[in-house]
Parts: sequence; C-alpha cells; structure tokens
Amino acid sequence: MVIARHPQTIYSGMLSGLVAGQYLLDDIEIDVRSLAGLVDATLLIDEVVGIDLAGKRVLCRAGPPVAFDLLSLDIGSHASPVDLTASNYTPFVARPADEFLRGFEVLRRRVAARGHQGRVVTVGAGAGGVELLLAIERRLRREAARDGADATGLTFTLVSASNDILPGFPSRFRQHVRALLAQRGIALRSAARVMAASQHGLAIAGQAAVQADDVLWATEATASGWLARTGLLLDEEGFVRVEGTLRSVGRDDVFAAGDTASFDPRPLMKSGVFAVRAGPLLAHNLRASLLGEPLKTFQPQHRALYILSTGDGRAIGTRAGFTVSGRWVWQCKSWIDRRFMARHRGLDSPTLAGGAPGP
Ligand SMILES: Cc1cc2nc3c(=O)[nH]c(=O)nc-3n(C[C@H](O)[C@H](O)[C@H](O)COP(=O)(O)OP(=O)(O)OC[C@H]3O[C@@H](n4cnc5c(N)ncnc54)[C@H](O)[C@@H]3O)c2cc1C
Repeated sequence: MVIARHPQTIYSGMLSGLVAGQYLLDDIEIDVRSLAGLVDATLLIDEVVGIDLAGKRVLCRAGPPVAFDLLSLDIGSHASPVDLTASNYTPFVARPADEFLRGFEVLRRRVAARGHQGRVVTVGAGAGGVELLLAIERRLRREAARDGADATGLTFTLVSASNDILPGFPSRFRQHVRALLAQRGIALRSAARVMAASQHGLAIAGQAAVQADDVLWATEATASGWLARTGLLLDEEGFVRVEGTLRSVGRDDVFAAGDTASFDPRPLMKSGVFAVRAGPLLAHNLRASLLGEPLKTFQPQHRALYILSTGDGRAIGTRAGFTVSGRWVWQCKSWIDRRFMARHRGLDSPTLAGGAPGP
C-alpha cells in the first residue's frame, strides 16, 4: 500500500520552470495513482501524522490506523518559518511544492491587484530559494509588462542567514549567481538572520529591518515534527537516521529514504539526486527484507551534477568544481527533467532539440 497526501506529486526539478512560464502544471506532475497501479499497490490518500511502532500501525489524519509489517518513510521535508504565531502573519513556503504553488498564485494576484507594485522578499539563499526567486522575478516583471504597468515599484530581495549565497556550492558558481542577481536588480542581504516577520517586513538580528509586502520562506529543509514522537532514532535536526541499507537505525521493520532520511555513513545534501538514486535500492531492500535475503548498501555518488535555472531560458551548472552557463545548459537540464518525467509516464525519451523555449 502507498499512502500519499495527494494523487499527484510535483517534480521539484521543474517547479521553477513552471513559475517562469516554461512548463504547464501537467508537465511537472507525477501521477502517483497510475504508478501505484503499475505495481498493483493500493493508493490511500491520507496524511500520516504518527507511527505506533509497538503496535506496528501508521496513524493517519483522516482515516483509521494502517497496520504494517514493513514501513518505508519517504515523506520529504518542509521549509519552516520562524515562530510567527505572535505576528499573525504567514509567509508562503518553498516546500512542500503543492503549498508553494498555492502561495505563488496568491502572490501573483496580490501583486497584480497592487498595480504590479510590491516588495517581494525570499528568505533562504540555498539552490531552491535562489532558483524560485529568479523565476518569480522574471514572471512578475513579464506580467507587469504584459499589462503595460510601470513596474519600478516592484522590487526583489534575497535574505540569507549565511555570509554568502548557495552554501556548499563552488565559489565560481556562487560568484556567477551573485553577479546575475545584481544584473537583475535583486538586492542581497547576507549574514541576516530573521528574528520575526509581520505584514510590514522582517526583523533582522543586529541589522535594519527588511521591508516586505510578500515573503517566500525557502530556508533549509526541516523534518516533520511528528517524527520526534515516534521513538525512531533521529539526527539532531529531526530526520530519521538510516544505515547504509536505508534501514532505520535500530529497527528492522522501518526504512527511510530521500529528504526525510539522515544517512548515517556520511552526510548527504537534501537533494532529489539522492532521493531518486535511492529508489531502486530501497525497492530491492524492501523485497529482500521480506524474503529474508541479504540487503544491499546505498552508494550515493560523490560528484553530482547541479543545474540551477535562472528563469530566462538559461541555467548555470556545476560538477566536480567546474561551472558552465548559458541557454544550452538550460536545454540540457530541460532534457534531463523531461526524460525523468517521460519515464514515469511510460513515454519515449524527449529529444534535446525539443526543449521548451525560454521566455
Ligand atoms: C524549488 C526547489 C527546487 C529543487 N530543485 C532540485 C533539483 O533541480 N535537483 C535536485 O536534485 N533537487 C532539487 N530540489 C530538492 C528536491 O526537491 C528534494 O530533495 C526531493 O524532492 C526529495 O525527494 P523526497 O522523495 O524525499 O521528497 P518529496 O519529493 O518532497 O516527496 C515527498 C512526498 O511525500 C508526500 N508526503 C509528505 N508528508 C506526508 C505525510 N505525512 N503523509 C503522506 N504523504 C506525505 C508529499 O506530498 C510528497 O508527495 C529542489 C527543491 C526545491 C524546494
């Protein structure tokens, strides 16, 4: 049985392309129902809110508990804002992707209603936040131009708690993206830790406040809070600690993979590259575990390729310390992403030349 919150799930690699207007929603949605059907799995649409390990039951928000012999947790991660309960203000979040898309539609309407004016601020300068902000900037400016509006009052700011953007990326890559932000008129506030938010903006520790009309929260991945009440062994950030076999440390009936897992053998970035690569090994180990056969060990790659779309039909890529950029990089990314989606739909691979056009 597969339990999922929605019958469709959004492929994050193409999310910024949707925002920039390069893809339609249908291009980036994976149909969980038909995937489950392919392997004769029952799909239960519900949200898991807890696990009763002793009773071997998964607790769901809407329906009754679901009994299990073997459980695999692949529930991803969230972007969690600072505690804003006092301010009665809710920024929109970069993940999960379905929540982001709802927030993005609200943002578009609000900006249009203000005559294409407003101060749009993104908190979090990791790859997801930067990519989304670049796409949002392109899209909102294009919509202002379409409506003949004077968009001089439409401003964009990236707020980062770290001293530089894109922690963990090579310095040439970061330099390239910083130059691009400046070229697009996107202000950068680094070493800026947000302490509170309200409808007027963000209070920053030891610095002047950042004025904002709309805030996208795109800080690092955080774990689902209910995991802390399960009794599973978690790392200090609340993610499920797994052995090399992706089995939860200390349990033989629970596995975890993707963002929700904390890989004990070595730290891994919360990246779709690792989530996707873990899939076949996870499937093998779940089957082997039921049959009492030996489990395999996940060998995550050391040199992953990262490509960041810049929302204008171009992209910047890096692998093994090398950095490349341009339209052709976006076309490569688009081909890789469309091939991934085609595989999940049982379609032929797309051609490289058939990449969706940049705006
Ligand atoms: C804007 C953005 C762009 C990104 N681009 C890239 C990229 O280009 N390349 C890359 O490698 N990585 C990228 N990432 C990171 C990537 O999205 C994640 O690392 C990846 O999605 C993790 O996969 P996952 O399967 O663990 O979780 P997810 O893809 O988040 O899937 C989790 C699934 O579980 C469901 N779910 C969650 N909680 C529950 C629950 N309690 N009960 C039932 N169902 C639940 C969700 O609805 C979802 O369908 C990007 C992230 C962002 C935010």
